[in-house]
Amino acid sequence: MASEVPAYAGYIFDLDGTVYLGEELIPGADDTVAALRARGAGVIFVSNKPIATGRSYAEKLTRLRIPANLEQVLTSPMALAHYIAAHHEAPRVLALGEEPVLSELRAIGCRLVESATEADIVVVSWDRQVTYARLDEAFQALRRGALFYVTNPDVICPLAGGSEVSDAGAIMAYMEACSGRTPDHIAGKPSPALAHVAMARMGTTPEQTLLIGDRLETDLVCGKSAGCATATVLSGVTEEADLAALPLDRRPDYVLGSMGELI
Ligand SMILES: [Mg+2]
Repeated sequence: MASEVPAYAGYIFDLDGTVYLGEELIPGADDTVAALRARGAGVIFVSNKPIATGRSYAEKLTRLRIPANLEQVLTSPMALAHYIAAHHEAPRVLALGEEPVLSELRAIGCRLVESATEADIVVVSWDRQVTYARLDEAFQALRRGALFYVTNPDVICPLAGGSEVSDAGAIMAYMEACSGRTPDHIAGKPSPALAHVAMARMGTTPEQTLLIGDRLETDLVCGKSAGCATATVLSGVTEEADLAALPLDRRPDYVLGSMGELI
């Protein structure tokens, strides 16, 4: 692990714990992004969280002095929609998810259906209005052979103040348990799919791309499995002792106190 980071053509930034903590910008994050952009590097901000829209992240970043548009933000629902659009034409989708997921699916021409008999694909996401009837309809669709796609596999989502709530991964686990199947595609971290979509947008190869994040089991695994260079920042949930506990081949290429040290 090194701390001197060479220049890359593309940068994929995790958001919470890396660029900001809640509503507070990590010191230097704005100057770092501005300097990388001035060099001509591609910059994309990624989040697994499927209950907020890409637009809301672009607005938050802009409010925190990092001007960003929708092209520079990639959420797990946006990445899943990218994958579906690349592999299917106007599929019929039974979705367990909230409006940010449904709107991404509609935008690429998916037909949202309610009945298991109509579904080509089941999309499992975080759905705070889910009912037994909806879960069972999704199960029946999986039994009938519908594809099983997931926005993000996070079992819990940490909240400000230290509490936690169950997330899409808990609903995914329910569907796995009853169907005996595993997902055919997972869009969010630690799946490399999120990094693949980000690199496709920036036009960079894995060798030209650095993924920066604070969480070892999601950000680091995503970057490594996509073949990108990886940097772990200590501004979020990971401490130096966590890194020391990792086998050598699973450690990041760079460790930084915060993303301000990138340049
Ligand atoms: Mg994070």
